[in-house]
Amino acid sequence: MIIVLKPQIAPEEITRFTDHLRDAYDVKVNRWDGVHSTVLGLIGDTTRIDIEYIDAQEIVESVKRVQEPYKKANRKFHPENTVIKINDSVSIGDGSLHIMAGPCSVESEEQIVGIAKSVKASGATLLRGGAFKPRTSPYAFQGLKAEGLDLLKAARKETGLPIVTEIMRVSHIDMFENVDIIQVGARNMQNFELLKELGKIDKPILLKRGLSATIEEWLMSAEYIMAGGNEKVMLCERGIRTYETYTRNTLDVSAIPIIKKLSHLPVIVDPSHASGKSWLVEPLAMAAVAAGADGLIIEVHNDPPHAWSDGAQSLTTNQFDKVAKRVFALKSSL
Ligand code: PEP
Ligand code: MN
Repeated sequence: MIIVLKPQIAPEEITRFTDHLRDAYDVKVNRWDGVHSTVLGLIGDTTRIDIEYIDAQEIVESVKRVQEPYKKANRKFHPENTVIKINDSVSIGDGSLHIMAGPCSVESEEQIVGIAKSVKASGATLLRGGAFKPRTSPYAFQGLKAEGLDLLKAARKETGLPIVTEIMRVSHIDMFENVDIIQVGARNMQNFELLKELGKIDKPILLKRGLSATIEEWLMSAEYIMAGGNEKVMLCERGIRTYETYTRNTLDVSAIPIIKKLSHLPVIVDPSHASGKSWLVEPLAMAAVAAGADGLIIEVHNDPPHAWSDGAQSLTTNQFDKVAKRVFALKSSL
C-alpha cells in the first residue's frame, strides 16, 4: 500500500502516523521524503487495512493498494487453476467444458425428471433447478422449497446428474447436505453471514455475481467463503445491471478473462439471466466459451410459455440440444 502525505506536514506528525501504522497493522513502513511531499510504503499483510480510513486521515493526500485485498482467491498466491471434482466424471476447472442445465424452478417430478433426461442426452453434465426462489415480487411463485429439493434428488437418482440449487438462508444449510453444488444467487452475493456459514462446510459453492457488483467485490465475497476454510468456490458471471434495457442484464464477457487472470477459481457463465431472452442464449454462450469459461448454466424448460418462472429466457429441450452441440463443437475447436 502506498500512501502519499500532504505537503508541509510537521515531521513529528509523520512519525506519529507511521508509528500508528506499524502498531495497528503489524506492517513495515518505508518512508521517502520528497521535495514537496512524503510517500509511505507499507510492506506486509495489508488486507486488514481499511483503505477508506487511511484516505480520510487529515495528513493523507492519497492512498493506493498495490496488492489486491483478497488472498485465498488470488492467483498470485495459488498459480495453478482450482479444479473442483463433483463426481468421477465431472471436474470443473480442469480445461473441459461443463453445462449445468435445467429449469429456473422445479415444478413437478415429471417436469424435472423429464428435463434432466433430455439435457443429459444433449451433453449436460449437471442438473440445475430452483427450489427456493428469490423473486422480485412477493406475489410471484416462491419455489416448491423442501419438496423441490426432494424432486431434484429424484431426478439425480434417475439420471446420475449432480444437482445445483440455490440457498437463501443460513438456517437451510442442513437441508442442502445432499445437494452437490450450492448456488448463492446474485441477490445474496453480499449476504456475508450466509457466506461465512458456507465457508464452514465442505461443499462446492456456485457464487453468482451481484447485480451491480464490481469484480473486486465479487472476489471479496468468494474470499469470505474461502477464509472460513471452504475453498471449493466457482464464480458465476450472470450479467450486471447497466443503462441498457433491451436485455435483462448485460453480460460482462470481459469478466471471464479478468477473473482467470486475477483468480484461480473456475468461471461459469449464465447466458440465460444475462440476457432474459431465449434467442440470445446461444450467442452469449458461444462468446463465454470463446472467452475461456469453464462452464455454462442454462435454463431449459419442457414448456417455456407456461414456465412458473423465467419462461422468456428458457430454451426448449430441442433448442438446448442445438446450443449444446454448437458450444461443444466450439470448445473442441479452441
Ligand atoms: C437463478 O439461477 O434462477 C437465479 C435466480 O439467478 P440470479 O441469482 O443470477 O438472478
Ligand atoms: Mn431463473
